[in-house]
Amino acid sequence: MEMSVPAALHERDRLDALARYDILDTPDEEAFDRITRLVRRVLKVPMSTVTFLDGHRQWFKSRQGVAACESERRIALCDITIRESAPLIVPDTLADARFASNPLVLGPPHLRFYAGVPLRSSEGQNIGTLCAMDTVPRQLDSDAIATLSDLALIVMNELELRLLASTDGLTGALSRRAFREEATRALALAQRHRHEASCIAFDLDHFKGINDTHGHATGDAVLAGSAAACRALLRQTDLFGRVGGEEFVVLLPHTGKQAALAVAEKLRAGIAAQRFSCAEEPFAVTASFGVATIGHAAGDIDAVLGAADAALYAAKAGGRNRCVTSPAGNIADPAFGRRVLKAGQIVFNSGRSVIDCTVRRLSEQGANIAVISTAGVPERFKLAIEADAFSRFCEVARKAGSEIDVRFA
Ligand code: GH3
Ligand code: MG
Ligand code: MG
Repeated sequence: MEMSVPAALHERDRLDALARYDILDTPDEEAFDRITRLVRRVLKVPMSTVTFLDGHRQWFKSRQGVAACESERRIALCDITIRESAPLIVPDTLADARFASNPLVLGPPHLRFYAGVPLRSSEGQNIGTLCAMDTVPRQLDSDAIATLSDLALIVMNELELRLLASTDGLTGALSRRAFREEATRALALAQRHRHEASCIAFDLDHFKGINDTHGHATGDAVLAGSAAACRALLRQTDLFGRVGGEEFVVLLPHTGKQAALAVAEKLRAGIAAQRFSCAEEPFAVTASFGVATIGHAAGDIDAVLGAADAALYAAKAGGRNRCVTSPAGNIADPAFGRRVLKAGQIVFNSGRSVIDCTVRRLSEQGANIAVISTAGVPERFKLAIEADAFSRFCEVARKAGSEIDVRFA
């Protein structure tokens, strides 16, 4: 089978590094758009992107002059850039055997010139690129290459600073890392004193639709408002963190299952009771909640977060705007597993057809995978994760948008 990704082990570490920054599928942000605008202006090119290489696609955090927000990884020029430590400069794609027949060269956006600098993580993994592109051939002098390289370092600085920040600017909640650190301490204390503790994970429902209908600024106001509403309902000693775009977690010390469920229900009602207004009619939002409790015996923060997240997933599957406790729902639910970020392949037609995918959740029973398009994906196929030497036959349980839930045979 022909592989489209770099050496398997390296790729696993690379995706782990990318996952730590939690940047995939987040909205446009001025901090990055400012940089792609600068590239365009200083290098006098029509197109510039900040690109991250997911398992199966290149995804643009910021783009100037490029219409699509993602494209297949196997045709991405940036996928070549991340294999090197030096910038990749292609003065004329048609004169380069590697790219002359590439669909992005022959068709839109008609790339004739490409310059890409790897975005290198603190552990030395190339998670993406900063690129300058043109529809005509060009040369780039060493000053311009140095400028692009410096701007790529600024992109990485921005990402690193976000990891170091202990609170999130928009909502005031603890960052993922700060939450994990404080929650680890709180759990150790709870175990020493033989107290229970609970964790609530929640995620706003259909938030993409809110952004699409009312705009990002209103989406941000909804996030800030919902976080404030929750904090007002929590105790000073509870920990409150933002662990994803519209995902939050709460750690409740000295709190058992029933009490935690009551807190989750209070937060759910508090969020749903808010009214937001923009130009149109006032609107409301809802959220789905997962609750997990840890006895006074064992269990670390990752286990309790994972259990709360699985319960949250069941709350989504059960219809949203509800609270579910762990162990929750149907454990045989194929997509019930832990979150991962792994490059995979959908293999069918006796191994002759391969579609790249990214595995986002994985359990003993099944997986949740993302593809560019579910069109052409058969009902039964083999799911392979090269880096893990993993291969299982599976059956599609659900297809929605670019996502597929599969059950292992
Ligand atoms: P579900 O009910 O399944 O959770 O659907 P959803 O639309 O909420 O889920 P999904 O995870 O697909 O979409 C989350 C959206 O949140 C996508 C992203 O653009 C948006 N988002 C993430 N971070 C921010 C942010 O800081 N501000 C704004 N306005 N939107 C954000
Ligand atoms: Mg959501
Ligand atoms: Mg979400």
